[in-house]
Amino acid sequence: MPAPKDFLSDFHWLMDVLQNIDVGLIILDEEFNIQLWNSFMQNHSAMGPADVLGKNIFESFPELPEPWFRQKVQSVFVLHNSAFTTWEQRPYLFKFKNYRPVTGIADFMYQNSTIIPLKDTRGKVEHICLIVYDVTEVAVNRLQIQAANLQLHEISRTDGLTGLLNRKTWELDAEQEYKRFKRHEHPCSLVMFDIDHFKNINDSYGHPAGDEVIRQTAAAVKSCIRDIDIAGRYGGEEFTIVLSDTDTEGALVVAERIRNQIQELTVHYEDFAIQFTVSLGVAQLTQQMTNRTAWIDCADKALYQAKKNGRNNSVVYTP
Ligand code: GH3
Ligand code: MG
Ligand code: MG
Repeated sequence: MPAPKDFLSDFHWLMDVLQNIDVGLIILDEEFNIQLWNSFMQNHSAMGPADVLGKNIFESFPELPEPWFRQKVQSVFVLHNSAFTTWEQRPYLFKFKNYRPVTGIADFMYQNSTIIPLKDTRGKVEHICLIVYDVTEVAVNRLQIQAANLQLHEISRTDGLTGLLNRKTWELDAEQEYKRFKRHEHPCSLVMFDIDHFKNINDSYGHPAGDEVIRQTAAAVKSCIRDIDIAGRYGGEEFTIVLSDTDTEGALVVAERIRNQIQELTVHYEDFAIQFTVSLGVAQLTQQMTNRTAWIDCADKALYQAKKNGRNNSVVYTP
């Protein structure tokens, strides 16, 4: 059986391990003076033990959030319990550059940290140990997934060609507005419109030119409405807009603004200069409309009337 190692060699081994372990280790006294600084901290901060030992940590690292960090450490001194910080709360304590090739997209090292009380032989806590973990890979992965989810959410709500809400999402939003009206009876109107003779545009200039006309029609809509209005691509070249807190008169103003803007618009596609018009139907929501579909039908009827009137005009629904 090998002889047990003497205390001193155990201690040196332990110091070697602490020095070379791939986490940051710092020991602080009650005055926040640095008592231990391992090689992880040295490598990432480019400050050696000679630069920092015995020095106040806030003087050496001004980026440390002093009041917050003081309070955190004080609680460890007083309660003798460990404290934790995560990158979600604060991306880092020490602003270290991120050198890892795989996670090269982060400029700095994301860090979790733990503060543990160090008891002396009498059981008194006059030092704490701050352990700093490099969690850049975890953080970057998480942030990438969050960004991708957000993007997917947006894609699933919008129409790819125009960026307006797709029909399904628009209908859900219109339903919300309908329910709000049932409770509060604030005025609320719907504008539905359709591009005139759009088949001719496709036939004369080609489908991609038709797509560009649809795209620019949507852009014109966006420029004519407020942020709170709910605009959607209802079908091929049919659009719907819910105008909240807007009565018939106000909705007609918006409808005419859209109609005029589109009448003035020229879409340039390849060598073509395409001009076109739209016909619009306006319907203010009333208590007689017993569901959202009835409301849309009314706007659709008004739109049909506008087509019948010769196109390029707006018609208000009358029962
Ligand atoms: P009206 O004035 O009565 O509205 O006549 P219109 O020619 O516009 O008739 P209609 O609304 O029935 O025609 C819609 C056409 O739009 C038919 C379809 O081929 C075309 N369309 C639908 N979606 C798209 C699309 O995303 N891109 C293009 N380029 N065309 C589309
Ligand atoms: Mg049409
Ligand atoms: Mg149509």
